[in-house]
Amino acid sequence: MSYTRVLRCRKCGQEYPIKPMNLCELCLSPLEVTYDYQAMRGAVSREKFASGPISMWRYKDLLPVEDDVIDIGTGYTPLTKATNLGKELGLEQLYIKNDGVNPTYSFKDRPVSTGVTKAREFGFKAVACASTGNLAASVAAHAAKARMKAYVFVPSNTEPGKLVGAAIYGPTLVVVKGSYDDVNRLCSTLAQRYKWGFININLRPYYAEGSKTLAYEVVEQLGWRAPDCVVYPVGSGLSFTRIWKGLGELAMLGLTGPVNTHMYLVQAAGASPIVNAFQSGSQHVNPVIPNTVATSIAMGNPADGYYALKIARESEGGACAVTDEELIAGMKLLAQTEGIFAEATGGAVIASLKKLAAAGTIKKDQVTVAYITGAGPRSQEVVSDIVKPFVVEPNLESFEKVLGNEITK
Ligand SMILES: *Cc1c(COP(=O)(O)O)cnc(C)c1O
Ligand SMILES: [Zn+2]
Repeated sequence: MSYTRVLRCRKCGQEYPIKPMNLCELCLSPLEVTYDYQAMRGAVSREKFASGPISMWRYKDLLPVEDDVIDIGTGYTPLTKATNLGKELGLEQLYIKNDGVNPTYSFKDRPVSTGVTKAREFGFKAVACASTGNLAASVAAHAAKARMKAYVFVPSNTEPGKLVGAAIYGPTLVVVKGSYDDVNRLCSTLAQRYKWGFININLRPYYAEGSKTLAYEVVEQLGWRAPDCVVYPVGSGLSFTRIWKGLGELAMLGLTGPVNTHMYLVQAAGASPIVNAFQSGSQHVNPVIPNTVATSIAMGNPADGYYALKIARESEGGACAVTDEELIAGMKLLAQTEGIFAEATGGAVIASLKKLAAAGTIKKDQVTVAYITGAGPRSQEVVSDIVKPFVVEPNLESFEKVLGNEITK
């Protein structure tokens, strides 16, 4: 049983029944799932969530799915207090939400869980996606669990590790000679031609909703309190908008007080069209050609950029871009203070956090959550220079000679 009502256009408000579609027929703006919050109010409670499964599905009442869901163990990832990193940056209430420990090593398992569940409900025999790598792995894994056929499309610059990470689940893997934006264009054409559930195209409104659990979990883990500041990496901007929606829903349902969260979005300087718009005071996100090692967020023409920008402004948050050099330093800093190996995207979050704290924008006593959305083994190439081992003969003399002053006495 679900509280899902209709799809509604974010711009003109036109409503459509629950079916596979993502753009308004009148104004071509994105559609969003709406719910019967009145009915939901009586049914949900903190206690009910707490007694649910230890996964994102404890919040099923707030998601657009029926009872039979595809569960590969996604969500309920750790929220750890980052005392060491906090000391380095001068923040006393810093938390890391580590979504790199999801089944396919990124937060994408959340939206894909709702997207593929919906694809099966709609009766699709095949699912598909346009991906920079992480989404491909997640869609392939969920399709395997659902015993559905998967077609996953990635650009030709995708790291070898991400190709293996998708191929292992047995999808039809297609490498497109071009950038992510080219992959996306090709997939939009294919979505009109074949009866496939394209997770981030014709199923996008349902896919989007799974990311609300990024907000629900953090609020529950903080003891039913919304954070003062959120720092989150954006590619298309979609998941950033759903964290905001999730926070708003909890307040509307009376599960938290009013939301005063400042939303900070992060991009890599080599692909920062939303940050550019924020800084220039513009409402319009001008496309760029991406060039960064943070491939998961290397999107030149972000589909939800306009809405992400609006939330960064309305929440009195901000937008921050960091260079590849800075984000690689961010990866090392996080690993060496908190023992968490994040992918390059996570390095961008930490490097941005450092800037925001140094500038006094994020204050030391604000409860701040930095989201790590993907795990480091996916970005090994960018930090491979870190490996500088001492090479010794298998005897004591050699060990002491080679290590010298490195030996703690
Ligand atoms: C996809 C992705 C993002 C960005 O998500 P959007 O919703 O497209 O903005 C951030 N981090 C990682 C690791 C991702 O895979
Ligand atoms: Zn419309």
